Amino acid sequence: MRCPRDGEFSNGTLEPYGNIELSPSSGVLNYGQGLFEGLKAYRKEDGSILLFRPEENGVRMRMGAERLCMPAPTIEQFVDAVKATVLANKRWVPPPGKGSLYIRPLLMGTGAVLGLAPAPEYTFLIYVSPVGNYFKEGLAPINLVIQNDYHRATPGGTGGIKTIGNYASVLKAQSEAKEKGYSDVLYLDSVHKKYLEEVSSCNVFVVKDNTISTPAIRGTILPGITRKSIIDVAVSLGFQVEERLISVEEVLDADEVFCTGTAVVVSPVGSITYHGKRVSYGGGGVGAVSQQLYSVLTRLQMGIAEDKMGWTLQLC
Ligand code: PMP
Repeated sequence: MRCPRDGEFSNGTLEPYGNIELSPSSGVLNYGQGLFEGLKAYRKEDGSILLFRPEENGVRMRMGAERLCMPAPTIEQFVDAVKATVLANKRWVPPPGKGSLYIRPLLMGTGAVLGLAPAPEYTFLIYVSPVGNYFKEGLAPINLVIQNDYHRATPGGTGGIKTIGNYASVLKAQSEAKEKGYSDVLYLDSVHKKYLEEVSSCNVFVVKDNTISTPAIRGTILPGITRKSIIDVAVSLGFQVEERLISVEEVLDADEVFCTGTAVVVSPVGSITYHGKRVSYGGGGVGAVSQQLYSVLTRLQMGIAEDKMGWTLQLC
């Protein structure tokens, strides 16, 4: 069975937000042939709007599409569509410091397919919504729980792409953790049940003696754009950064732990509970490294600091 080819996306149209028509036998509804992305637009003091590395989201969507036998927009088509959608909704981009416009691109098999196979037709769409700042009054540490009854991804599976099914698989683990008062789950690898992977919707970093480590990308972890950016920012600030296997014992012995993602940017971890034992970090407050990385990256994304990395795209 051949995967459909790329480059077959016709020029898009801008339409008011509303329901879409979908065949009951569409590939996305029956076989989970769907991908999404998430990025943010910020308003600067001068009124202009900034996107953060949108081409990276386009690249990641293409990588996921290849794995799911789907055609994908080119990176140029992707970025142009994001720009057009944001510009058409620019009045919804909150004022500086009051949040951002969250942008959600979707790519899905919308053609009808009864037997298991890639769908014959695809839809790429983008919707947006204003969101407040994740941390309204300064950074607030989150509390994670490690548990081995559930895993987010397995080797050879789809953990390394942003496919919708990965999120269905964490719903139960995450809601059980929340019911017990935790913020989220920190997943271990499914083979050795020993190495850190990531949280339900963010990557994880461990700080020990001024070295910053994060699990290496091995197909079971989403290659986060914030993760990649934080690695570069940390290196530019003089930290030693390592991408490698990190055992659960190491994280329990760390000086600081933080998570990264588009929503949280950098989120300090206040405690991790493993087998009923709770380990706290940063003395109940926010660790110095997490605070520094959060400040540097948010100031860059919001256009408060000069963008020496060339990561922001100014829209108007
Ligand atoms: N891991 C998972 C599972 C995620 O859903 C996300 C959010 N996209 C991330 C990590 C962080 O990725 P990014 O920094 O690109 O938002």
